[in-house]
Amino acid sequence: MEMFGRSRQQLTMMYALLMGALLVVLIFTVHRMMEWSMFSEQAQELFDAVDSIAEYRERERHPDPEGDSQTFVNYSDRLFFYVFDEDNRLLDFSRASYKFEFFILDHIRNWDAASGSVQVFRRPGEGGRRTSIMITSRTMNAGGIGHRVFVGKDVTTVYSGLQKSTYLLVAAGVLGLLLSTVIAYVMAGKALEPMEEAYEKQKQFAADASHELRTPLAVVMSSAELLLSDQSITSPFLRQVLEDVKSEVKKMTKLVGDLLIVARSDNNALKMQLKTFNLGELLNQNVRIMRPLAQKKNINLVAEDIADIDITADEQKIKQLILILVDNAIKYTPNGGVVVVRYDGRYDDDVRFSIMDTGIGIAPEDLDKIFERFYRVDKARSRELGGNGLGLSIAHEFTKMHGGKINVESVIDQGTKFTVTLPIKK
Ligand code: ADP
Repeated sequence: MEMFGRSRQQLTMMYALLMGALLVVLIFTVHRMMEWSMFSEQAQELFDAVDSIAEYRERERHPDPEGDSQTFVNYSDRLFFYVFDEDNRLLDFSRASYKFEFFILDHIRNWDAASGSVQVFRRPGEGGRRTSIMITSRTMNAGGIGHRVFVGKDVTTVYSGLQKSTYLLVAAGVLGLLLSTVIAYVMAGKALEPMEEAYEKQKQFAADASHELRTPLAVVMSSAELLLSDQSITSPFLRQVLEDVKSEVKKMTKLVGDLLIVARSDNNALKMQLKTFNLGELLNQNVRIMRPLAQKKNINLVAEDIADIDITADEQKIKQLILILVDNAIKYTPNGGVVVVRYDGRYDDDVRFSIMDTGIGIAPEDLDKIFERFYRVDKARSRELGGNGLGLSIAHEFTKMHGGKINVESVIDQGTKFTVTLPIKK
Protein backbone atom coordinates (compact mmCIF):
# COMPACT_ATOMS: atom_id res chain seq x y z
CA MET A 1 0.00 0.00 0.00
CA GLU A 2 1.52 3.22 -1.24
CA MET A 3 0.29 5.40 1.66
CA PHE A 4 1.75 3.11 4.34
CA GLY A 5 4.99 2.79 2.38
CA ARG A 6 5.31 6.56 2.39
CA SER A 7 4.55 6.82 6.12
CA ARG A 8 7.13 4.13 6.78
CA GLN A 9 9.75 6.04 4.83
CA GLN A 10 8.85 9.31 6.55
CA LEU A 11 9.06 7.70 10.00
CA THR A 12 12.44 6.16 9.18
CA MET A 13 13.71 9.44 7.78
CA MET A 14 12.63 11.40 10.86
CA TYR A 15 14.23 8.83 13.15
CA ALA A 16 17.46 8.85 11.13
CA LEU A 17 17.59 12.65 11.20
CA LEU A 18 17.02 12.71 14.94
CA MET A 19 19.63 10.01 15.56
CA GLY A 20 22.04 11.80 13.23
CA ALA A 21 21.65 15.09 15.09
CA LEU A 22 22.10 13.29 18.42
CA LEU A 23 25.23 11.54 17.18
CA VAL A 24 26.75 14.79 15.91
CA VAL A 25 26.20 16.40 19.32
CA LEU A 26 27.57 13.30 21.08
CA ILE A 27 30.67 13.01 18.90
CA PHE A 28 31.35 16.72 19.20
CA THR A 29 31.02 16.58 23.00
CA VAL A 30 33.23 13.49 23.33
CA HIS A 31 35.81 15.06 21.02
CA ARG A 32 35.84 18.26 23.06
CA MET A 33 36.15 16.34 26.32
CA MET A 34 39.01 14.22 25.04
CA GLU A 35 40.75 17.33 23.74
CA TRP A 36 40.27 19.12 27.03
CA SER A 37 41.53 16.23 29.17
CA MET A 38 44.52 15.72 26.87
CA PHE A 39 45.30 19.40 26.89
CA SER A 40 45.19 19.69 30.69
CA GLU A 41 47.31 16.58 31.13
CA GLN A 42 50.00 17.86 28.78
CA ALA A 43 49.83 21.35 30.29
CA GLN A 44 50.29 19.87 33.77
CA GLU A 45 53.47 18.18 32.58
CA LEU A 46 54.75 21.52 31.33
CA PHE A 47 53.86 23.23 34.64
CA ASP A 48 55.74 20.53 36.56
CA ALA A 49 58.72 21.08 34.31
CA VAL A 50 58.58 24.86 34.87
CA ASP A 51 58.50 24.24 38.64
CA SER A 52 61.58 22.02 38.41
CA ILE A 53 63.44 24.62 36.37
CA ALA A 54 62.49 27.40 38.79
CA GLU A 55 63.66 25.26 41.72
CA TYR A 56 66.88 24.39 39.96
CA ARG A 57 67.66 27.99 39.13
CA GLU A 58 66.89 29.05 42.67
CA ARG A 59 69.32 26.43 43.99
CA GLU A 60 71.94 27.63 41.58
CA ARG A 61 71.64 31.16 42.88
CA HIS A 62 71.72 30.02 46.54
CA PRO A 63 73.61 26.73 46.61
CA ASP A 64 72.98 24.63 49.72
CA PRO A 65 76.39 23.23 50.70
CA GLU A 66 74.74 20.55 52.85
CA GLY A 67 72.11 19.43 50.34
CA ASP A 68 72.29 17.16 47.30
CA SER A 69 73.18 18.95 44.16
CA GLN A 70 69.91 18.48 42.32
CA THR A 71 69.66 19.35 38.70
CA PHE A 72 66.71 19.74 36.45
CA VAL A 73 66.10 16.46 34.74
CA ASN A 74 64.62 16.58 31.29
CA TYR A 75 62.42 13.55 31.84
CA SER A 76 60.87 13.54 28.41
CA ASP A 77 62.97 13.86 25.30
CA ARG A 78 60.17 15.85 23.73
CA LEU A 79 60.45 18.54 26.39
CA PHE A 80 62.58 21.62 25.80
CA PHE A 81 63.02 24.91 27.61
CA TYR A 82 64.52 28.35 27.14
CA VAL A 83 65.24 30.91 29.88
CA PHE A 84 65.60 34.57 28.94
CA ASP A 85 66.69 37.44 31.13
CA GLU A 86 64.98 40.78 31.22
CA ASP A 87 67.01 41.93 28.17
CA ASN A 88 65.84 38.94 26.19
CA ARG A 89 69.22 37.25 26.41
CA LEU A 90 69.20 33.49 26.47
CA LEU A 91 70.45 32.29 29.86
CA ASP A 92 69.79 28.61 29.81
CA PHE A 93 68.11 26.10 27.56
CA SER A 94 67.49 22.54 26.62
CA ARG A 95 67.11 22.71 22.89
CA ALA A 96 64.11 21.67 20.94
CA SER A 97 64.50 19.51 17.87
CA TYR A 98 66.50 21.30 15.16
CA LYS A 99 63.54 20.76 12.84
CA PHE A 100 61.45 23.34 14.58
CA GLU A 101 63.74 25.25 16.90
CA PHE A 102 63.87 28.26 14.64
CA PHE A 103 60.07 28.28 14.42
CA ILE A 104 59.76 28.12 18.22
CA LEU A 105 62.30 30.83 18.96
CA ASP A 106 60.66 33.04 16.42
CA HIS A 107 57.29 32.52 18.06
CA ILE A 108 58.21 32.88 21.69
CA ARG A 109 60.20 36.07 21.10
CA ASN A 110 57.07 37.67 19.70
CA TRP A 111 54.70 35.98 22.09
CA ASP A 112 53.24 38.44 24.53
CA ALA A 113 52.13 35.77 26.97
CA ALA A 114 50.79 36.22 30.46
CA SER A 115 52.71 34.23 33.06
CA GLY A 116 51.28 30.73 33.31
CA SER A 117 49.50 30.74 29.96
CA VAL A 118 49.68 27.78 27.63
CA GLN A 119 49.38 27.78 23.87
CA VAL A 120 49.63 25.23 21.09
CA PHE A 121 51.55 26.44 18.03
CA ARG A 122 51.10 24.62 14.79
CA ARG A 123 53.80 24.46 12.22
CA PRO A 124 52.88 23.35 8.71
CA GLY A 125 55.25 20.57 7.71
CA GLU A 126 56.14 18.80 4.52
CA GLY A 127 53.51 16.54 2.99
CA GLY A 128 50.67 18.28 4.81
CA ARG A 129 51.83 16.93 8.20
CA ARG A 130 51.61 19.57 10.86
CA THR A 131 53.72 19.70 13.97
CA SER A 132 51.91 20.77 17.12
CA ILE A 133 54.01 22.30 19.84
CA MET A 134 52.62 23.15 23.24
CA ILE A 135 54.43 25.89 25.15
CA THR A 136 53.92 27.50 28.52
CA SER A 137 55.48 30.73 29.61
CA ARG A 138 56.29 31.78 33.17
CA THR A 139 57.93 34.89 34.57
CA MET A 140 60.25 34.05 37.43
CA ASN A 141 61.36 36.47 40.03
CA ALA A 142 65.11 36.06 40.25
CA GLY A 143 66.16 38.49 42.93
CA GLY A 144 63.82 41.19 41.86
CA ILE A 145 64.52 40.72 38.18
CA GLY A 146 62.05 39.07 35.88
CA HIS A 147 63.31 36.07 33.96
CA ARG A 148 61.08 34.46 31.41
CA VAL A 149 60.99 30.69 31.07
CA PHE A 150 59.39 28.91 28.15
CA VAL A 151 58.86 25.20 28.43
CA GLY A 152 57.46 23.32 25.51
CA LYS A 153 56.77 19.91 24.13
CA ASP A 154 56.13 18.35 20.77
CA VAL A 155 52.55 17.12 21.11
CA THR A 156 52.07 16.14 17.46
CA THR A 157 51.56 12.46 18.20
CA VAL A 158 49.09 13.20 20.98
CA TYR A 159 47.06 15.45 18.72
CA SER A 160 47.16 13.09 15.77
CA GLY A 161 46.11 10.29 18.16
CA LEU A 162 43.14 12.43 19.15
CA GLN A 163 42.35 13.08 15.50
CA LYS A 164 42.47 9.38 14.72
CA SER A 165 40.15 8.52 17.61
CA THR A 166 37.74 11.23 16.41
CA TYR A 167 37.75 9.78 12.89
CA LEU A 168 37.16 6.36 14.38
CA LEU A 169 34.29 7.75 16.44
CA VAL A 170 32.76 9.38 13.36
CA ALA A 171 33.10 6.15 11.37
CA ALA A 172 31.48 4.18 14.23
CA GLY A 173 28.75 6.84 14.40
CA VAL A 174 27.99 6.59 10.66
CA LEU A 175 27.94 2.81 10.87
CA GLY A 176 25.66 2.97 13.93
CA LEU A 177 23.39 5.42 12.14
CA LEU A 178 23.11 3.18 9.09
CA LEU A 179 22.37 0.17 11.25
CA SER A 180 19.80 2.01 13.36
CA THR A 181 18.13 3.36 10.19
CA VAL A 182 17.72 -0.18 8.88
CA ILE A 183 16.34 -1.28 12.26
CA ALA A 184 14.00 1.76 12.31
CA TYR A 185 12.73 0.84 8.83
CA VAL A 186 11.97 -2.72 9.93
CA MET A 187 10.35 -1.56 13.20
CA ALA A 188 8.24 1.09 11.45
CA GLY A 189 7.01 -1.63 9.10
CA LYS A 190 6.08 -3.79 12.08
CA ALA A 191 4.32 -0.91 13.87
CA LEU A 192 2.30 -0.05 10.76
CA GLU A 193 1.22 -3.64 10.12
CA PRO A 194 -1.87 -3.62 12.40
CA MET A 195 -2.90 -0.21 11.05
CA GLU A 196 -2.58 -1.48 7.50
CA GLU A 197 -4.70 -4.50 8.39
CA ALA A 198 -7.37 -2.31 10.00
CA TYR A 199 -7.32 -0.03 6.97
CA GLU A 200 -7.76 -2.99 4.62
CA LYS A 201 -10.71 -4.21 6.71
CA GLN A 202 -12.28 -0.78 6.71
CA LYS A 203 -11.92 -0.52 2.93
CA GLN A 204 -13.48 -3.93 2.51
CA PHE A 205 -16.29 -2.87 4.85
CA ALA A 206 -16.98 0.28 2.80
CA ALA A 207 -17.11 -1.77 -0.38
CA ASP A 208 -19.38 -4.42 1.17
CA ALA A 209 -21.65 -1.87 2.85
CA SER A 210 -22.21 0.17 -0.31
CA HIS A 211 -22.75 -3.00 -2.28
CA GLU A 212 -25.29 -4.33 0.24
CA LEU A 213 -27.14 -0.99 0.35
CA ARG A 214 -27.92 -1.07 -3.34
CA THR A 215 -30.57 -3.80 -3.16
CA PRO A 216 -32.73 -2.29 -0.38
CA LEU A 217 -32.48 1.10 -2.11
CA ALA A 218 -33.67 -0.43 -5.35
CA VAL A 219 -36.58 -2.01 -3.46
CA VAL A 220 -37.56 1.33 -1.86
CA MET A 221 -37.31 3.02 -5.25
CA SER A 222 -39.49 0.51 -7.06
CA SER A 223 -42.00 0.55 -4.17
CA ALA A 224 -42.29 4.33 -4.37
CA GLU A 225 -42.75 4.11 -8.13
CA LEU A 226 -45.37 1.38 -7.70
CA LEU A 227 -47.31 3.48 -5.19
CA LEU A 228 -47.11 6.51 -7.48
CA SER A 229 -48.54 4.50 -10.32
CA ASP A 230 -51.46 3.44 -8.13
CA GLN A 231 -54.31 5.71 -9.21
CA SER A 232 -56.22 5.06 -5.96
CA ILE A 233 -53.72 7.33 -4.16
CA THR A 234 -55.21 10.66 -5.02
CA SER A 235 -54.13 12.83 -2.10
CA PRO A 236 -51.73 15.46 -3.52
CA PHE A 237 -49.95 15.51 -0.16
CA LEU A 238 -49.26 11.75 -0.26
CA ARG A 239 -48.19 11.94 -3.90
CA GLN A 240 -45.73 14.73 -2.99
CA VAL A 241 -44.35 12.66 -0.12
CA LEU A 242 -43.80 9.76 -2.54
CA GLU A 243 -42.08 12.07 -5.04
CA ASP A 244 -39.78 13.32 -2.24
CA VAL A 245 -38.98 9.74 -1.23
CA LYS A 246 -38.14 8.93 -4.84
CA SER A 247 -35.92 11.96 -5.24
CA GLU A 248 -34.03 11.24 -1.98
CA VAL A 249 -33.64 7.56 -2.83
CA LYS A 250 -32.28 8.57 -6.23
CA LYS A 251 -29.65 10.82 -4.58
CA MET A 252 -28.78 8.09 -2.14
CA THR A 253 -28.47 5.48 -4.89
CA LYS A 254 -26.04 7.78 -6.69
CA LEU A 255 -24.05 8.33 -3.51
CA VAL A 256 -23.92 4.61 -2.77
CA GLY A 257 -22.90 3.90 -6.36
CA ASP A 258 -20.12 6.51 -6.17
CA LEU A 259 -18.98 5.17 -2.80
CA LEU A 260 -18.80 1.70 -4.25
CA ILE A 261 -16.58 2.94 -7.10
CA VAL A 262 -14.30 4.73 -4.63
CA ALA A 263 -14.12 1.70 -2.32
CA ARG A 264 -13.40 -0.62 -5.23
CA SER A 265 -10.72 1.67 -6.54
CA ASP A 266 -9.08 1.60 -3.07
CA ASN A 267 -9.20 -2.18 -3.13
CA ASN A 268 -7.80 -2.22 -6.65
CA ALA A 269 -10.97 -4.07 -7.52
CA LEU A 270 -12.07 -1.80 -10.35
CA LYS A 271 -11.97 -3.92 -13.45
CA MET A 272 -11.25 -2.54 -16.90
CA GLN A 273 -13.35 -3.86 -19.73
CA LEU A 274 -11.51 -2.73 -22.79
CA LYS A 275 -13.10 -2.49 -26.17
CA THR A 276 -12.70 -0.37 -29.29
CA PHE A 277 -15.40 2.24 -29.81
CA ASN A 278 -15.98 5.55 -31.53
CA LEU A 279 -15.19 8.40 -29.14
CA GLY A 280 -16.95 10.98 -31.34
CA GLU A 281 -20.13 8.96 -31.19
CA LEU A 282 -19.87 8.59 -27.42
CA LEU A 283 -19.46 12.36 -27.01
CA ASN A 284 -22.52 12.99 -29.19
CA GLN A 285 -24.52 10.38 -27.31
CA ASN A 286 -23.69 11.97 -23.94
CA VAL A 287 -24.67 15.39 -25.20
CA ARG A 288 -28.04 13.91 -26.26
CA ILE A 289 -28.51 12.28 -22.85
CA MET A 290 -27.76 15.48 -20.98
CA ARG A 291 -29.67 17.86 -23.22
CA PRO A 292 -33.01 17.61 -21.34
CA LEU A 293 -31.19 18.48 -18.10
CA ALA A 294 -29.55 21.48 -19.81
CA GLN A 295 -32.83 22.60 -21.30
CA LYS A 296 -34.41 22.69 -17.84
CA LYS A 297 -31.93 25.47 -17.05
CA ASN A 298 -32.19 27.01 -20.48
CA ILE A 299 -28.53 26.17 -21.05
CA ASN A 300 -27.31 25.77 -24.60
CA LEU A 301 -25.46 22.41 -24.58
CA VAL A 302 -23.55 21.94 -27.84
CA ALA A 303 -21.13 19.43 -29.33
CA GLU A 304 -18.30 20.93 -31.37
CA ASP A 305 -15.74 19.57 -33.87
CA ILE A 306 -16.83 16.01 -33.23
CA ALA A 307 -14.91 13.62 -35.49
CA ASP A 308 -14.86 9.86 -35.98
CA ILE A 309 -12.05 8.47 -33.92
CA ASP A 310 -11.75 4.93 -32.61
CA ILE A 311 -10.14 4.40 -29.23
CA THR A 312 -9.60 1.30 -27.12
CA ALA A 313 -10.74 1.89 -23.54
CA ASP A 314 -13.38 0.97 -20.98
CA GLU A 315 -16.42 2.54 -22.66
CA GLN A 316 -18.61 2.57 -19.54
CA LYS A 317 -15.99 4.40 -17.53
CA ILE A 318 -15.29 6.95 -20.27
CA LYS A 319 -19.03 7.49 -20.58
CA GLN A 320 -19.36 8.03 -16.83
CA LEU A 321 -16.39 10.40 -16.91
CA ILE A 322 -17.96 12.53 -19.66
CA LEU A 323 -21.31 12.52 -17.84
CA ILE A 324 -19.71 13.68 -14.58
CA LEU A 325 -17.99 16.60 -16.34
CA VAL A 326 -21.07 17.63 -18.37
CA ASP A 327 -23.31 17.25 -15.31
CA ASN A 328 -20.97 19.53 -13.31
CA ALA A 329 -20.81 22.05 -16.16
CA ILE A 330 -24.62 22.26 -16.20
CA LYS A 331 -24.86 22.29 -12.38
CA TYR A 332 -22.40 25.12 -11.92
CA THR A 333 -23.59 27.28 -14.84
CA PRO A 334 -26.41 29.74 -14.21
CA ASN A 335 -29.57 29.66 -16.33
CA GLY A 336 -29.11 30.74 -19.93
CA GLY A 337 -25.41 29.84 -20.10
CA VAL A 338 -23.49 27.73 -22.59
CA VAL A 339 -21.79 24.34 -22.22
CA VAL A 340 -19.57 23.09 -25.03
CA VAL A 341 -18.39 19.49 -25.44
CA ARG A 342 -15.53 19.58 -27.90
CA TYR A 343 -13.28 17.05 -29.54
CA ASP A 344 -9.86 18.75 -29.53
CA GLY A 345 -8.12 16.27 -31.80
CA ARG A 346 -5.42 13.67 -31.85
CA TYR A 347 -1.96 14.34 -30.44
CA ASP A 348 0.51 11.54 -31.27
CA ASP A 349 -0.89 8.51 -29.47
CA ASP A 350 -3.42 10.52 -27.46
CA VAL A 351 -6.83 11.99 -28.05
CA ARG A 352 -8.12 15.07 -26.31
CA PHE A 353 -11.58 16.42 -25.59
CA SER A 354 -12.85 19.21 -23.39
CA ILE A 355 -15.97 20.33 -21.57
CA MET A 356 -16.27 24.10 -21.30
CA ASP A 357 -18.88 26.16 -19.49
CA THR A 358 -19.73 29.79 -18.86
CA GLY A 359 -20.45 29.12 -15.19
CA ILE A 360 -19.39 30.34 -11.77
CA GLY A 361 -15.75 29.27 -12.14
CA ILE A 362 -13.35 27.94 -9.51
CA ALA A 363 -10.96 30.06 -7.45
CA PRO A 364 -7.23 29.36 -8.10
CA GLU A 365 -6.70 28.15 -4.50
CA ASP A 366 -9.40 25.49 -4.97
CA LEU A 367 -8.22 24.22 -8.35
CA ASP A 368 -5.88 21.53 -7.06
CA LYS A 369 -8.31 20.42 -4.34
CA ILE A 370 -11.42 19.76 -6.40
CA PHE A 371 -10.19 16.28 -7.38
CA GLU A 372 -10.00 15.24 -3.71
CA ARG A 373 -12.77 13.07 -2.34
CA PHE A 374 -15.68 14.95 -0.81
CA TYR A 375 -14.08 18.31 -1.56
CA ARG A 376 -16.68 20.88 -2.49
CA VAL A 377 -15.98 24.57 -2.89
CA ASP A 378 -19.43 25.47 -1.62
CA LYS A 379 -20.88 22.56 0.37
CA ALA A 380 -24.39 23.90 0.68
CA ARG A 381 -24.63 24.78 -3.00
CA SER A 382 -23.26 21.40 -4.10
CA ARG A 383 -25.70 19.51 -1.82
CA GLU A 384 -28.60 21.59 -3.07
CA LEU A 385 -27.62 20.67 -6.63
CA GLY A 386 -27.48 16.98 -5.74
CA GLY A 387 -23.69 16.74 -5.51
CA ASN A 388 -21.75 14.60 -3.08
CA GLY A 389 -18.18 15.73 -3.77
CA LEU A 390 -17.14 12.42 -5.31
CA GLY A 391 -17.72 13.14 -9.01
CA LEU A 392 -14.37 14.68 -9.91
CA SER A 393 -12.38 12.23 -7.80
CA ILE A 394 -14.03 9.40 -9.76
CA ALA A 395 -13.39 11.21 -13.05
CA HIS A 396 -9.74 11.60 -12.04
CA GLU A 397 -9.50 7.93 -11.02
CA PHE A 398 -10.95 6.77 -14.35
CA THR A 399 -8.56 8.88 -16.43
CA LYS A 400 -5.63 7.69 -14.31
CA MET A 401 -6.67 4.05 -14.82
CA HIS A 402 -6.49 4.61 -18.55
CA GLY A 403 -3.07 6.24 -18.31
CA GLY A 404 -4.53 9.63 -19.22
CA LYS A 405 -4.82 12.95 -17.45
CA ILE A 406 -7.38 15.59 -16.70
CA ASN A 407 -6.61 19.31 -16.60
CA VAL A 408 -8.68 22.22 -15.40
CA GLU A 409 -8.55 25.92 -16.20
CA SER A 410 -11.01 28.35 -14.70
CA VAL A 411 -11.78 32.01 -14.26
CA ILE A 412 -14.15 32.97 -11.50
CA ASP A 413 -17.55 34.13 -12.81
CA GLN A 414 -16.50 33.46 -16.40
CA GLY A 415 -16.31 29.72 -16.72
CA THR A 416 -14.37 26.48 -16.43
CA LYS A 417 -12.74 24.15 -18.91
CA PHE A 418 -11.86 20.53 -18.16
CA THR A 419 -9.56 18.90 -20.71
CA VAL A 420 -9.22 15.12 -20.79
CA THR A 421 -6.31 13.43 -22.52
CA LEU A 422 -6.55 9.68 -23.13
CA PRO A 423 -4.27 7.26 -24.93
CA ILE A 424 -5.87 5.89 -28.11
CA LYS A 425 -4.99 2.40 -27.01
CA LYS A 426 -4.88 1.54 -23.32
P1 ADP B 1 -19.94 17.74 -6.55
O1 ADP B 1 -20.73 16.51 -6.40
O2 ADP B 1 -20.00 18.63 -5.37
O3 ADP B 1 -20.21 18.44 -7.84
P2 ADP B 1 -17.38 17.11 -7.69
O4 ADP B 1 -16.28 16.22 -7.17
O5 ADP B 1 -17.97 16.75 -8.98
O6 ADP B 1 -18.45 17.21 -6.53
O7 ADP B 1 -16.80 18.56 -7.78
C1 ADP B 1 -16.10 19.10 -6.68
C2 ADP B 1 -16.31 20.59 -6.60
O8 ADP B 1 -15.67 21.23 -7.70
C3 ADP B 1 -17.74 21.02 -6.68
O9 ADP B 1 -18.36 20.99 -5.42
C4 ADP B 1 -17.66 22.41 -7.25
O10 ADP B 1 -17.45 23.33 -6.20
C5 ADP B 1 -16.41 22.37 -8.10
N1 ADP B 1 -16.72 22.21 -9.54
C6 ADP B 1 -16.71 21.07 -10.27
N2 ADP B 1 -17.01 21.33 -11.56
C7 ADP B 1 -17.23 22.64 -11.65
C8 ADP B 1 -17.56 23.53 -12.75
N3 ADP B 1 -17.75 23.07 -13.99
N4 ADP B 1 -17.69 24.85 -12.47
C9 ADP B 1 -17.49 25.31 -11.22
N5 ADP B 1 -17.18 24.54 -10.16
C10 ADP B 1 -17.04 23.22 -10.37
